[in-house]
Amino acid sequence: MNIAFIGLGNMGAPMASNLVKAGHSVTVFDLVESAMQALESEGARRAESTEAATKGAEVIISMLPAGVHVKGLYLGRDGAPGLLEALETDADNTKPLIIDASTISPEDAREVAAAAREHGLTWLDAPVSGGVGGAKAGALTFIVGGSAEGFEQARPVLEAMGKNIFHAGESGAGQVAKICNNMLLGILMSGTAEALALGVKNGMDPAVLSEIMKQSSGGNWALNVYNPWPGVMEGSAASRDYQGGFLTDLMAKDLGLAWELALGSKSTVPMGSQARNLFALHSAQGSGSLDFSSIQKLYREGE
Ligand code: NAD
Repeated sequence: MNIAFIGLGNMGAPMASNLVKAGHSVTVFDLVESAMQALESEGARRAESTEAATKGAEVIISMLPAGVHVKGLYLGRDGAPGLLEALETDADNTKPLIIDASTISPEDAREVAAAAREHGLTWLDAPVSGGVGGAKAGALTFIVGGSAEGFEQARPVLEAMGKNIFHAGESGAGQVAKICNNMLLGILMSGTAEALALGVKNGMDPAVLSEIMKQSSGGNWALNVYNPWPGVMEGSAASRDYQGGFLTDLMAKDLGLAWELALGSKSTVPMGSQARNLFALHSAQGSGSLDFSSIQKLYREGE
């Protein structure tokens, strides 16, 4: 298929790469030149703008940091028209299926999906779980919100990048499920970092303690695949100075989305609020561009 891929960051680059490997014809666009060059060397075509990238595309996939970027792309910004309008006025428009894999608020997702419908287009929210490792391995979990027909149309494309493809419900439902998941992830990553710091302060070897907790009732995803203590797990973000991966700022954003969702639905999220404060503080102390597992550093201050 002709696929346009917009946003080649930590996640988007390996996802686009897997689409190329699966034999799709992929045209990419990112604001960062080097990101496009890397994909070009893997067999993708590079475009000079989003409009050029999406011309003649059957499927458009976007993987951007936050709602402001997604709305800017599709609805327009500073008086400039967005991609939805450009697609409608394009004579060659093939009515592409649009899949946004970014994590944004359900409200923003519903707004863009509704605007797309007005332009005669199907727009799915399809946030992912699985991290950079999952993106590289083509093993992501996709959590899709939108029509059942749109979901079935998207499935074969998503299967080239992921293993578990869920239809969560109507527009916005993918984001609700994703936000619940990431609130839990923020809680369990900070809890894991807290337990490791406590053990080490009391004489434990972090690798021995990790192995014990992994095989005990505290076992969880962070201990299994994303250990926050440097040197415990080969290949982890912690073992490469917390470079790359899932940024602290993005985790703080997701916990903020959980907080907004809780306010709107009168839900109580005391643990999520605590995690949000921890990641916001960690970001404010200058760690926003480090991987989120660097929350471990917050517990090691003064060492
Ligand atoms: P990132 O910051 O590494 O990449 C975002 C990319 O988007 C950058 O390359 C940036 O240049 C590009 N971009 C921004 N605005 C653009 C525009 N208008 N046009 C074209 N390109 C534009 O972020 P990431 O880690 O790849 O995450 C992307 C999304 O996926 C976020 O919503 C994040 O919350 C979510 N997510 C990330 C992870 C992870 O482990 N990193 C896991 C699951 C979900």
